[in-house]
Amino acid sequence: MNIGVLALQGAFVEHRHKLEALNVNSIELRQKSDLSKQLDGLILPGGESTAIGKLLVDLDMFNSIKDLIQNTMPVFGTCAGMILLAKNIENSSVKHLATMDISIIRNAYGRQLGSFNAISKFGDFDEVPMTFIRAPYIESVASNVKILSVVEGNIVAARQNNQLVTSFHPELTDDIAVHNYFLNMIEDTQQVTVARGILK
Ligand code: GLN
Repeated sequence: MNIGVLALQGAFVEHRHKLEALNVNSIELRQKSDLSKQLDGLILPGGESTAIGKLLVDLDMFNSIKDLIQNTMPVFGTCAGMILLAKNIENSSVKHLATMDISIIRNAYGRQLGSFNAISKFGDFDEVPMTFIRAPYIESVASNVKILSVVEGNIVAARQNNQLVTSFHPELTDDIAVHNYFLNMIEDTQQVTVARGILK
């Protein structure tokens, strides 16, 4: 398996370390040609969504990434990555890739004092450590979006088909539940693709 980690700005190295610990190969996506490599999944890391969004356009990677996601490439967006995927940002008129039917609030916990840790449920996992850094949260989701975590009444993790998002940074903790969940998502997608091939 080979995961492409968008490496334009932000916490991409930490995702690669986490994948390495799970014995999964990853490559850094820094330019358009990197997107035509053999990839099984994409990670859009945390950082500054405005900067990453602008670089995606400047480097002409925006449409290729959007096409990959719309063609069911599994993608995991953490924090700024979640902002890039959201169809609506309630406190901004900016839209980025806008592939996921979620409405989010950027810097939802305040700009300066918005960093904290929590331990909460993520899907079927009971006690997942979560690090929030000037994080967004999800204000509302469409009916085809599965809510995976709620912290203090706010949705902080969700999935829609091939797209997974978290407000928090699982790559900054010792826990592997969220990355494992993403790897399982990729395996499920691949099995469905193989099954479709057999049924054709
Ligand atoms: N506040 C950042 C943004 O709006 C996201 C912070 C993060 O990724 N940790 O892009």
